[in-house]
Amino acid sequence: MQKAFHGTLLYFKADPNQTDDALVHLPNHVLFTNNGIIEKVKAYTEVSATEKSNYQWYNFKDQWIVPGFIDTHIHYPQTEMIGAYGEALLEWLEKYTFPTERKFEDYAYAKEISSFFLNELLKNGTTTALVFGSVHKNSVEAFFEEAEQRNLRMICGKVMMDRNAPEYLVDTPESSYKESKELIEKWHNKGRLSYAVTPRFAITSTQKQLEKAGQLLLEYPDVYLHTHLSENQNEIAFTKELFPEAKNYLGVYKQANLLTKKSVFAHCIHLENEEWKDLANHNCSIAFCPTSNLFLGSGLFNLEKAEELNIHVGMGTDVGAGTSFNMLNTLNEAYKVTQLRKGLFPEDNQKSLSPLKAFYLATLGGAKALSLEDQIGKLEPGMEADFNIIDPAVSPLQKLRMKSVKTLEEALFGLQILGNSENIIATFVMGKSN
Ligand SMILES: [Zn+2]
Repeated sequence: MQKAFHGTLLYFKADPNQTDDALVHLPNHVLFTNNGIIEKVKAYTEVSATEKSNYQWYNFKDQWIVPGFIDTHIHYPQTEMIGAYGEALLEWLEKYTFPTERKFEDYAYAKEISSFFLNELLKNGTTTALVFGSVHKNSVEAFFEEAEQRNLRMICGKVMMDRNAPEYLVDTPESSYKESKELIEKWHNKGRLSYAVTPRFAITSTQKQLEKAGQLLLEYPDVYLHTHLSENQNEIAFTKELFPEAKNYLGVYKQANLLTKKSVFAHCIHLENEEWKDLANHNCSIAFCPTSNLFLGSGLFNLEKAEELNIHVGMGTDVGAGTSFNMLNTLNEAYKVTQLRKGLFPEDNQKSLSPLKAFYLATLGGAKALSLEDQIGKLEPGMEADFNIIDPAVSPLQKLRMKSVKTLEEALFGLQILGNSENIIATFVMGKSN
């Protein structure tokens, strides 16, 4: 099916903090798609009569066409426990998370929540995510089935955890290896789906289990590694107690061979210098999760440092510790994290997160963090046609605000701070409306 989308195209071809002309802004242009792939982009004034009659036309003349948002860290089994009160990481896991994740041994329940979760992501304009399942193999089966049905580009994995969790929720090094392997064989690279080997974090895995995870990465070099790193001070202290031989927290993963170009570490708030260097040297990526980091009181991510070291960073909502599925809300809080860092740690020379960098992180930056920049994150020929139609002014307050903005950057910032799911007018997945 050939389709043509008329509007203002807006996307990044590079990191705006590294290149001056990174933002591509094409008013009155047309995005042509063929069988879900972007075929060409043209100024409307250059469109031929044949093109006008051969394509199915969609008119979004006064709106923005932007790449689908990319969420590089989220837990689907925690959907129902979003906004659980009053705890920091380790207590929050015990009190709220583990009892909730227990429900996902039930396949029918896992299907129901997978469906709800994916619809919620789409409603918020997020078309790709790197997703934690629960420890149950069935939770990932259910998730991939629902994602496949919607033709979404999604990455998911079964949690591996064999200690420091309730007995009803632990696996063993052998069973986690076997079940992960079965899931990889069945789902990895099936259509738009990919697998992530997913140890929850160092605390809940024995050395033996982490080595099994490393073995999977060796056997399947193309799969992802998805875990948490250096989120909270008590977590770090406990990790060091459990792995006294490791040089630092990241060293625990490093000695199990878990540092690859397709490794994504969520949070990375309290990293030591050597850990930063190791992440950079191994081309690992970081998921920056501002709403979660503020909600659990974990700390303020150092975006400036990641930028200095050229480490790929993507945005993560980290639902259910994160407080919103919405990427605009997440970028809003990310801005405040950089503002706080600027105020509290002047020696770091933190810049305030610019709207250009923010929208880059939510699109092409996320794609790079997931090694998917050849498939998604830009509106260029050959890319998969996952995109949003965005209106930056839908509420009376937004309309009033937009009247006084003078530049595109100001308009983007207004959307970042005042925006929500109402601004996502439509979401297209492989050129199809959802
Ligand atoms: Zn998380």
